Amino acid sequence: MSLSQVACSIAESPTLRLNEEARLLRERGEPVIHLGIGEPKNKTPITAILSSAAKLSSGDVKYSPTDGQPSLKKAIIRYTEDNYNRVVSPYNIIVSEGAKQSLFNIIFTLCNPQDELIVIAPYWVSYPEIVRMVGAIPVIVTPEDGGFLPSFEEVEQAVSSYTKAIIVNSPNNPSGAVYPDELIAKLVELCESKGIYLICDDIYHKLVFDGRVPAPAYKFTNKDAENTKVIVVNGVAKLYGMTGFRIGWVVAPRRMVEVMTNVQSQTTTCVSPVMQAAAEGALTGMQSIVESLRLSIQNNRDVLMQELHSFTDVRCARPGGTFYALPDFRAYVRKSVAKDSVELSDFLLKRALVVTVPGREFGMEGHLRLSYAGSVKDITEGIERMKWALDPNAPSEIYIGDRKLVRDWL
Ligand code: PMP
Repeated sequence: MSLSQVACSIAESPTLRLNEEARLLRERGEPVIHLGIGEPKNKTPITAILSSAAKLSSGDVKYSPTDGQPSLKKAIIRYTEDNYNRVVSPYNIIVSEGAKQSLFNIIFTLCNPQDELIVIAPYWVSYPEIVRMVGAIPVIVTPEDGGFLPSFEEVEQAVSSYTKAIIVNSPNNPSGAVYPDELIAKLVELCESKGIYLICDDIYHKLVFDGRVPAPAYKFTNKDAENTKVIVVNGVAKLYGMTGFRIGWVVAPRRMVEVMTNVQSQTTTCVSPVMQAAAEGALTGMQSIVESLRLSIQNNRDVLMQELHSFTDVRCARPGGTFYALPDFRAYVRKSVAKDSVELSDFLLKRALVVTVPGREFGMEGHLRLSYAGSVKDITEGIERMKWALDPNAPSEIYIGDRKLVRDWL
């Protein structure tokens, strides 16, 4: 079969593959614990349900403007003012099928083939693949100190005459790291002085713990909406637990939004107005929902950290936000178990029925991404099973579901 080389070179999303594997195991009745999942468990906000139900029951569900329903854009303008202290116009906004499509539109719109886009490791799995999809080159910056925060100099050194943009995702998937304000300020200055874009993937921006309130990148530019190089991506998936509604958006200069709108008009026409009504309901409804989610996830983070401490040889930087942690499992990548993080993750799924995501997918070999978006019970039981499977100091017997298992491989 003769297929496109570019299309065939794109890897399957490992997180979606693992979700599917977990679903199939559960269907067979296996007591799987999912620490791989990237979505909070809370129910859709009632205001989102009511406004999408009203749209649906009107029986008037037709194409909407390609760049988004005016009333949703209005809610996004308000959100941008309230959360970013930034006044933008409807021409600066385009609504898409989730933040993933927003990112695709941005990268497709910015990059010619062979242009470079700087991606900081650990990174969200889709960035390098989207960059490759449009024929551009992802330039990965890996912090030399082995940590999750790059130094400004490391990023600066990666900039070349081909660089079109730098992507920053803070709070970060997969590490939970929150980039310091000083780093963001320097990156804004670097981008604006070099004429390159700073793409801020802010999808987790309110899930920050311990009373910290990171400054948005806009704070560090005095350029207006048309002249700044700061582009902001956001959505309802993570903050409102609305992953299935598929609504994301971009705030960017008007000319860029026009081009992204043309691109979107040729790919998806528009986003379903039912889903847009849901997003509008979430954005204009009670915002205390986001704060309750943040508090319960912060509590889950504390439980996870406590559980991980009892693992003999696991090191884990305390996440400052998101619902992920990226502990270092290199001490357990050994012959009798696994030769890398991919095998380790497979091993844990097979032996302990725990889903984790291998660090290799995020540019951090030897680590595993653990999600604490689920219940406290899932976290404690999941880590207990992982300890049983990997840590010779843990008891060698365990009950998984109603089966008693004995470890005989360490
Ligand atoms: N950016 C990051 C960092 C993410 O983790 C995700 C979802 N996992 C997305 C973007 C995509 O979000 P959406 O579901 O709105 O497409």
